[in-house]
Amino acid sequence: MINLEVPRKFAELVRLAHQAAAEVFRPISRKYDLAEHTYPRELDMFAAVVDGMQASGEGSGAGAGGARRAAGAHAGSSDGGVRNGTNLSSVLSIMEMCWGDIGLLLSMPRQGLGNSAIASVATAEQQARFAGKWAAMAITEPGCGSDSAAITTTARLDGDHYVLNGEKIFVTAGERADAVVVWATLDRSRGREAIKSFVVEKGTPGLTVVGCEHKLCIRASDTATLYLSDCRVPRENLLGNPEIEQGFAGVMQTFDNTRPLVAAMAVGVARAALEATRSLLAEAGVQIDYDRPANTQHAAAAAYLAMESDWEAAYLLTLRAAWMADNNRPNSLQASMAKAKAGRACVDITLRCVELAGSVGYGERELLEKWARDAKILDIFEGTQQIQQLIVARRLLGKSSTELK
Ligand SMILES: Cc1cc2nc3c(=O)[nH]c(=O)nc-3n(C[C@H](O)[C@H](O)[C@H](O)COP(=O)(O)OP(=O)(O)OC[C@H]3O[C@@H](n4cnc5c(N)ncnc54)[C@H](O)[C@@H]3O)c2cc1C
Repeated sequence: MINLEVPRKFAELVRLAHQAAAEVFRPISRKYDLAEHTYPRELDMFAAVVDGMQASGEGSGAGAGGARRAAGAHAGSSDGGVRNGTNLSSVLSIMEMCWGDIGLLLSMPRQGLGNSAIASVATAEQQARFAGKWAAMAITEPGCGSDSAAITTTARLDGDHYVLNGEKIFVTAGERADAVVVWATLDRSRGREAIKSFVVEKGTPGLTVVGCEHKLCIRASDTATLYLSDCRVPRENLLGNPEIEQGFAGVMQTFDNTRPLVAAMAVGVARAALEATRSLLAEAGVQIDYDRPANTQHAAAAAYLAMESDWEAAYLLTLRAAWMADNNRPNSLQASMAKAKAGRACVDITLRCVELAGSVGYGERELLEKWARDAKILDIFEGTQQIQQLIVARRLLGKSSTELK
């Protein structure tokens, strides 16, 4: 088994994130699973602590809002040295937080996927202007999910503003966030390269939150439908390059940073399930022995060891994808590999843990059944399992999106 140590400079961040997950998230995890759509007030104080850590530089990359690339991203590391930066620290702290509760992490003010989008592609001026805002990310529409190139929400330049029209669905934190990063097309006839992302602040006339979804899980997290009707946003709110030719690569670059974060969520949830199952197995008299072949041990211990190795692969792929982002190495392939592996491993592991724990795993006394429900979303949003596999196949085979669909 490869066992990479957490870089020493992040050890304290990881310890604090774990402590917060254990002391803030876990005790209220079931409460907000049952009280769907109720905002977890307990998070306000905790979010203020994370803000303080980030402001002091101590907790840079403490949550989803931290991931960013240095200038010259995708150009390759210029100084020849290696960095462990905000992408790696973000995935490490997210793993710990999601060991606590993923729905609560997704409800943390200022740690939205829109914040990662802003951190990934915004200019320095935009970073400063949107600092402190909680941003959701709105890509999905009633007629477009996996195929984000099929977006129909339009953005038309009118003087100093873009005018946005369309409908966005399944927007995580779409109700509670201060702003939404909306993907829209400048010209529907130009396909994927005309798609851009725009920061739309709440309160902008023409932006309406229509309602929230009832869901299988991550019920602490609000999932909203938004309408944009002649919604005028300042032209400086377009993230990245406004030229159509430079288009889709710009918005897609967001995924290179956000997919490792979602993979990290999956790694965290799976580890929670593994640890709980290990305790339950120990209570039942099943010991796991790392010095003996799995096939000579109790069947439950052998199953556990198989799950742990699956988890380890997901963990390492996630660290690699984030580390590459920190070092300005192109990581689209590795980000999709991490997301595909971690999403699937999390679904498999959490369900198998329910199975191994039997009726105890299925009941609500433990959180195992909740984690098995939570896991599924990690294999859906930010690109489903099938879409990640498609991207990996395209990149390995050197095929374009029109050649391999
Ligand atoms: C709780 C929740 C939160 C979400 N949060 C957000 C958010 O914050 N922002 C946002 O923009 N979206 C969000 N989403 C939407 C999510 O990203 C989409 O659901 C996802 O991209 C899939 O799109 P779809 O649901 O339209 O499914 P479809 O694209 O219709 O896919 C249906 C099935 O077909 C498969 N499939 C599709 N195309 C192919 C292909 N070419 N080859 C093989 N299989 C294929 C898919 O993998 C899937 O299994 C959220 C969804 C949920 C459930």
